[in-house]
Amino acid sequence: MRHGRFAAIGLILLGAAACRRAESPRSGPALTPTPAATSSRDVHSYGNPEEIRVTHADLDWDVDFDRKVLRGSATLTVKRPVGGRSTGLVLDTRALDVSKVEASREGSAWTNSPFSLAPPDKILGSALTVTIPEDATQVRITYATRPEASGLQWLDPPQTAGRKNPFLFTQSQAIHARSWIPLQDSPSVRITYRAHVRTPRNLMAVMSADNDPNEPRDGDYDFEMPQPIPSYLIALAVGDLAFAPISLRSGVWAERPVVAKAAREFADVEKMIRAAETLFGPYRWERYDVLVLPPSFPFGGMENPRLTFATPTLLAGDKSLVAVIAHELAHSWAGNLVTNATWSDFWLNEGVTTYLERRIVEQVYGARRAEMEAVLGLQDLEKEMAGLPPKDQVLHPDLRGRDPDDAATDVAYEKGALFLRQLEAVYGRDRFDRFLRGYFDHFAFQSITTDDFIRYLHANLLDADPKLAAQVPVADWTEKPEIPAGARRPVSDALAPVEAEAQSWLDGKKPAAAIAAKNWSTQEWLHFLRALPNPTSPAKMEELDRAFHLSASGNSEITNEWLLLAIASHYEPAYPRLEEFLTSMGRQKFLKPLYEALVRTPEGRARALAIYRKARPGYHPIAVATVDKIVGWPG
Ligand SMILES: [Zn+2]
Repeated sequence: MRHGRFAAIGLILLGAAACRRAESPRSGPALTPTPAATSSRDVHSYGNPEEIRVTHADLDWDVDFDRKVLRGSATLTVKRPVGGRSTGLVLDTRALDVSKVEASREGSAWTNSPFSLAPPDKILGSALTVTIPEDATQVRITYATRPEASGLQWLDPPQTAGRKNPFLFTQSQAIHARSWIPLQDSPSVRITYRAHVRTPRNLMAVMSADNDPNEPRDGDYDFEMPQPIPSYLIALAVGDLAFAPISLRSGVWAERPVVAKAAREFADVEKMIRAAETLFGPYRWERYDVLVLPPSFPFGGMENPRLTFATPTLLAGDKSLVAVIAHELAHSWAGNLVTNATWSDFWLNEGVTTYLERRIVEQVYGARRAEMEAVLGLQDLEKEMAGLPPKDQVLHPDLRGRDPDDAATDVAYEKGALFLRQLEAVYGRDRFDRFLRGYFDHFAFQSITTDDFIRYLHANLLDADPKLAAQVPVADWTEKPEIPAGARRPVSDALAPVEAEAQSWLDGKKPAAAIAAKNWSTQEWLHFLRALPNPTSPAKMEELDRAFHLSASGNSEITNEWLLLAIASHYEPAYPRLEEFLTSMGRQKFLKPLYEALVRTPEGRARALAIYRKARPGYHPIAVATVDKIVGWPG
């Protein structure tokens, strides 16, 4: 997942008549589960895979846009460890209406099974406990979701690019799969799945599975994901989708008005796949397609296997923001192939992926760009860590009693990537690349903990050379706050001239119009804006805006950085753009810092609330939960 940056695409989210609210799935008594009530490996799941493990799901749904529910069944194949005879299967659910549970032994008749739903915990949802016969191998749960399901967003036609048809998309990470599928919703449990999905006849359905670009559009779709994946990677989208190919194994799905632009923006995807394969080993998932979602998608991208979900805010027109696609593609190795076993091990997904992302960018777009992005990433990390308590600065945090969504910060991404950079710097690229490739082969299709990683690291890299290992104090990296002393920081030669231009303008040695920015990339612009004083005088802001039309930029990352500076500087001419930006997309990477910057002053807070009142109905429930806290939304 990428929670970072945006380019406005002029879609207004307002006017959604019946958008859902997020409060329902999070209501109910706040029961903190006792350790005995949860799996010993994952504090965010009630599931009991040690006793009975779900290994496969057959899913069957009607997609009801009128009621905003999925209705159908999940038929789960279960296995007991050798010699196990358990009769109690425990699943995760959140706000599901379960009407019937049945069990069978393969081939035999279905019989009703007694079940109970525990009172909901506000983070974890409700444990569903089913009593099944000792020899049962399949469990079928008949159920419906609710309109407020935290993992589903139902968009009305005005919230889409085409404006004629509704749209549905899922977001299961971290623990939202349970709001639309009753499962052992832990990344330590991998399953294969098949799905049969019925939609209105004129809409197309796609999943994190075997999407056929030539599938006839008839409202009746079958999918299969034959490789075992964790539940947070199950994904579905339904809308007026069209497909444009990029290569034989890759292409773009998007709403019709967006698909051609998206295919141009992501034209380098095949090059990225090839670069990744030369570095990390074969791409093991057959197709790699990208689905561009409507602008309320709360993340930069989500690495749903075979079908990355992406924000339209990446469509800058110049491929300058495609590092997010490199990132999601890199998850095909780190995350989807070798998966964090719990959300405390999230850095194994995100830190390793951020490192791989920059290696792919380096191969396809050159070291200059990759290093600028690494420097900007380090700036993001240092800025965020300055506001985090020490316990949230560690790579491997204790998340008991916490929502994993709240704990997802740049620490997992950028500090994790720095850790891998350190290993690369100390052991040399050739040796480290061989290690990484071996790591992906060794743990392919497994879910592992930080301890598993460290054991493998010792056995396959560190222990062979204790002198070098002394330069990588592993426990300092994984268990302690701050960035360890001795960390090799990325440095970009390209950015010094940008700082010099900023300084010379600030010193009055040249007017804004004479700043040598003609050939600046997005990354150079971001560095320039970050180099300016906070606040910058309104007169200087106006001069800059006149010279470069920053308030009118169509690049989401530059817009975000400019608006942050505008808020701090009370530069009022940018406020209409601020409102337009915040009401036209729902990407948390931009919402969070902009609302946080606004609420620092009383006038800013009033402005934040006025904008949020209009924007909130169009935001995704995950974003609503975030922004509600920032602005102190009543209720
Ligand atoms: Zn990611």
